Amino acid sequence: MTNLSVARASLFLLFWLIFSATGLGRPSVVVIDPGHGGHDRGGIQGQRFPEKVFTLDTAKRLARILRNDTDIKVVLTRDTDTFVSLKERTDIANSYAGHNALFVSIHFNAGRREGAYGIETYYNNQRGYRLAALVHPRVIQAMASIDRGIWHGSYRVLRKNRLPAILVECGFLTNPAEAARITDSRSRERLARAFAGAILRYD
Ligand code: ZN
Repeated sequence: MTNLSVARASLFLLFWLIFSATGLGRPSVVVIDPGHGGHDRGGIQGQRFPEKVFTLDTAKRLARILRNDTDIKVVLTRDTDTFVSLKERTDIANSYAGHNALFVSIHFNAGRREGAYGIETYYNNQRGYRLAALVHPRVIQAMASIDRGIWHGSYRVLRKNRLPAILVECGFLTNPAEAARITDSRSRERLARAFAGAILRYD
């Protein structure tokens, strides 16, 4: 070997050691947060479809996909129709700080104007933004919807979160066309796969 190729080989080995030692790459833990629950239906007053039902179903689908296809530890902030406070949700997330963990909060939107539709993604910090940038286009595609933007969010579950955290509004339950998709289990399976695909690309 020439000196140059020895140098190249050692450099490669060095990077390999660093990356394998720090566990960079795919996250080790994903905390999935289905919005609302229990007495908190989500959405707006008089809304036909309760948001809490579809957030929980989508979250459980995502949990199943990650558990079946990866060795990522999956934590749900709720897995039944129960009320969990925002503080409890962030406490669960923060107990995984330092564990190469991500936080994904799943919501569906509501508008006074029936015509409002599209996907919005909120993030808490620079690492959260990287996750948002992976998730957002995939959710738009899965729901055959439009882009309402990626925004820095001041929601408590993001603000008090020590993990890279996002909150995704995966379409409007108050828009007839979008509600038809959200209430269709095949769309929610596509949606869950979109989240999983993004999470696996995060590093
Ligand atoms: Zn919500």
